[in-house]
Amino acid sequence: MGKLEVINPRTGQADHAIVPATREDVAAKASALRAAQPAWEAMGVGGRCGVMARWLQAVKARAADIGEADAHDTGGCHTSYLQGFITMGNVGGWLEDAPRAFAALEYDAMSPSMPTVRVQSQVVAYPLVGVISPWNAPLMLALLDAVPALFAGCAVLLKPSEITPRVIEVLFETVREVPELAAVFDYVTGAGDVGQAVIGEADTICFTGSVPTGRKVAVACAERLIPCHLELGGKDPCIVTETADLERAATAVLRGAVYATGQVCYSVERVYVHQVIHDAFVEKLVAKAAEVRLNTDNPRAGHIGPFTHGPQADIVAAHIADAVAKGAKVECGGAVEEIDGGRYLRPTVLTGVTHDMAIMQDETFGPTIPVMAYADTEDAIRLANDTQFGLTASVIAGTAEEAEAIGRRLNAGGIFLQDTFLTFAKMRTFGSDSFGWSGHGAPRIGPESLRRFLRRKSLLTQTGAVADIRDDHHLGKGA
Ligand code: NDP
Repeated sequence: MGKLEVINPRTGQADHAIVPATREDVAAKASALRAAQPAWEAMGVGGRCGVMARWLQAVKARAADIGEADAHDTGGCHTSYLQGFITMGNVGGWLEDAPRAFAALEYDAMSPSMPTVRVQSQVVAYPLVGVISPWNAPLMLALLDAVPALFAGCAVLLKPSEITPRVIEVLFETVREVPELAAVFDYVTGAGDVGQAVIGEADTICFTGSVPTGRKVAVACAERLIPCHLELGGKDPCIVTETADLERAATAVLRGAVYATGQVCYSVERVYVHQVIHDAFVEKLVAKAAEVRLNTDNPRAGHIGPFTHGPQADIVAAHIADAVAKGAKVECGGAVEEIDGGRYLRPTVLTGVTHDMAIMQDETFGPTIPVMAYADTEDAIRLANDTQFGLTASVIAGTAEEAEAIGRRLNAGGIFLQDTFLTFAKMRTFGSDSFGWSGHGAPRIGPESLRRFLRRKSLLTQTGAVADIRDDHHLGKGA
């Protein structure tokens, strides 16, 4: 099969290529991983921790290269150069948490309902986990599922996005330094057909990406009757109440909406501001937005980079055009700029928006900030919940108590109070579920993230006399 060209988001030119895997390639890799998995599982969590600790050292030694490759793939955003360190944090965290998570699943006691029966637990890993990941945070989103699956004792076959393969190539150079890990962790490159081939081989699937593709993945998994965990898009609202500190609110909203050029699933995608402070808030937000610099000259400089996937700019431009055609006003930004072949959009604040506009309903995935005035708290909650999605939501109010009272009524898995973008704070402690189209399956963060990859068995031992069929008191004789 021919090569697939990979575009550099900063130049718009192809400067890399991948060879898409064939179905036979995927089947061969899956079969090799399956053959190695029993030994990996048999090592126990302690043994696997030893291997993963060695991998952690290999990642540490290449952290800078990983960051460079990620910046090359994505065009350079704030977190690009931190990807190596984020990976180290991910693996290091599971080194501490995985033994505890396994211990919490152990059970060995006499049954309360049949006191002569001993009940023991056993956990069994799904042999082969398929991970299909998107382009917007190519390393982090590939590893968020793959790392706990490996700690659980599974083999993992990863299918990263064809748009951002460079960072995965560097990552796997580190994996190959640890042969025991390389035996159970591999990847295949290619587009959607390769993703489908992975689904055809795996025992469970973790998918991160868009709603339409997620639906196809769910259908393919249903056909095979294998579980799938879907992390899909968001249309995350932020409510700013009448009592909020305007400076704090504008700062948090701007960062939450334009970070990584807005190409983050939990970006602030729509803002509801009390009508009394609407104009003052917009004025402050626009003034702050004017200070955001593009990273055109240097990916390490500036605040926001180009669109990682050039065609994403067309989706964002279409949302802006639809809003303007229906009466919205562009307060700043608004036009996609092509600079040295990269496609950029400055923070774009829109007012006069309504819920019949795509920019208030569909995921935009760009640095847009549509702001809508609301009349009272009930109105704000109704508008925020008027969505098919439910990934995260934010509330900024005069007090944390006021924000919490509103946050408890919002339909989303992560509710950020008095700030936006607090997802990283959830890491390792407590996972959260998605609502609506934002996905389904167990949380991918926290101890339940590891449990997704384990089936539990019960071993029931009769320690007393066996029951005689003629001794039927247990059927209620004489009652
Ligand atoms: P896509 O849904 O287009 O693609 C995701 C992955 O699925 C890619 O690897 C893609 O391959 C692959 N794929 C495409 N078609 C199929 C198919 N028919 N069967 C199996 N796999 C397939 O998402 P994007 O890459 O465009 O990523 C952006 C989206 O991801 C946004 O909507 C965003 O909200 C969402 N996202 C969700 C997050 C969350 O945690 N909830 C986090 C980050 C992003 P290829 O790219 O090579 O075509």
